[in-house]
Amino acid sequence: MRITVVGTGYVGLVTGTCFAETGNNVTCVDIDENKVKKLSSGQITIYEPGLEKLFERNLKEERLHFTTSLAEGIKDAQVIFLALPTPPGADGAADLSFVLKVAEQLGKLLTDYKVIVDKSTVPVGTAEKVQAAIAQHCQHEFDVVSNPEFLREGVAVEDFMKPDRVVIGTRSERARKVMGDLYAPFVRQGNPILFMDERSAELTKYAANSFLATKISFMNEVAVLCEKLGADVDMVRRGIGSDDRIGKRFLFPGIGYGGSCFPKDVQALVRSSQEVQYDFKILNAVMDVNEKQKLFLLPKIKAYFNGELRGRRFALWGLAFKPNTDDIREAPALYIIESLLREGAELCVFDPEAMANVQQLLGDKIQYADHQYDCLQDADALIIATEWSVFRTPDFDKIKEELKNRVIFDGRNLFDVQRMQELGFYYESVGRATAT
Ligand code: NAD
Repeated sequence: MRITVVGTGYVGLVTGTCFAETGNNVTCVDIDENKVKKLSSGQITIYEPGLEKLFERNLKEERLHFTTSLAEGIKDAQVIFLALPTPPGADGAADLSFVLKVAEQLGKLLTDYKVIVDKSTVPVGTAEKVQAAIAQHCQHEFDVVSNPEFLREGVAVEDFMKPDRVVIGTRSERARKVMGDLYAPFVRQGNPILFMDERSAELTKYAANSFLATKISFMNEVAVLCEKLGADVDMVRRGIGSDDRIGKRFLFPGIGYGGSCFPKDVQALVRSSQEVQYDFKILNAVMDVNEKQKLFLLPKIKAYFNGELRGRRFALWGLAFKPNTDDIREAPALYIIESLLREGAELCVFDPEAMANVQQLLGDKIQYADHQYDCLQDADALIIATEWSVFRTPDFDKIKEELKNRVIFDGRNLFDVQRMQELGFYYESVGRATAT
């Protein structure tokens, strides 16, 4: 099939590359000239495990193309995916301007039947708006389908190639057939393609992300309670997770959820609910808890240093909002950095993939280390904000040697408390006892 993907960011590039990998001819369109130039010359623009190999192979085999021209990009396409940003607007609702602008442009460009697919996360009713925006300028037949994306950054290729399910919202038989054929290679193991109406598909994505965010905030509150009541959240997590109805996954407490999806999607669903005069109480609480949780370590750090952080120097491991990505959007690490700087502290940071993005954002407000141990020198304490695997079994002797004080504040519960006690660290984490 000939496919166009409009918007070549995290979702667009993975979507385009994976569709090329199953033999389709894919053109990715983006307004960012620099991005298109890089991608066309074989330079990948995001870090995502496994993506580079597929990208290189499909570029070489000429199944993957990049352009800044929407007209050129959609010329021969049968299916056009919209993988455009839907950032939160001032009121928290998803900003649809990127999507609707491209829809309008498409209306002027379509010359024959095409399936237009919303892959962006968009509020209920957007498929109808996209339909109307195209129809305003277009006499040709077309269908608008809602096909929300569930990939997780860090395992995006795996998620796309072997999705738990594919959700396709359409009431058109013609579009249903096209989409079914396109996704057939991805569900050969028997995972379902769930066909439904557009509105249900749109809501499914928000409900999924909001449910996962709820799980995180719930466990974070349990962790707070564990500290207050003298229980251990690791034990409680295992105790509840072995119940099939609850499940083991996504029960890890920490310093809050971040990224480009959960914060904005929860907020957008709350906003959508308000628009139909419904107060989604649980989600309001989920957001409140997360706001607090991002700065969970701060009072602990301040208390340890007797309330005064001016002149203190901190090493920070982990900047990405989660491991295996270079994405720093809404990363809890950024909130910690900002607060520590406000308190007059100095910071030296390390992340395996996200350094360049943070450097672009914060410049010389903080220092950047080439290696995880390099930032420890003369630091009063180490703070851990992302659970990258390389941080899990560090050289503790080296940490002791480099740090001024043997003090670690761990926002991701990477180490065993007892072991840290034996190693002689002062060690605080989330929902567990303190090693002193
Ligand atoms: P992104 O910011 O990484 O990428 C968006 C791309 O669209 C950018 O490259 C931008 O230059 C381009 N763009 C903007 N306007 C354009 C236009 N008029 N024409 C062509 N290109 C244009 O965003 P993303 O993370 O890929 O997210 C895209 C959508 O997918 C969002 O709705 C998001 O909520 C959703 N989503 C994201 C994830 C994720 O993990 N990142 C997962 C599932 C769903």
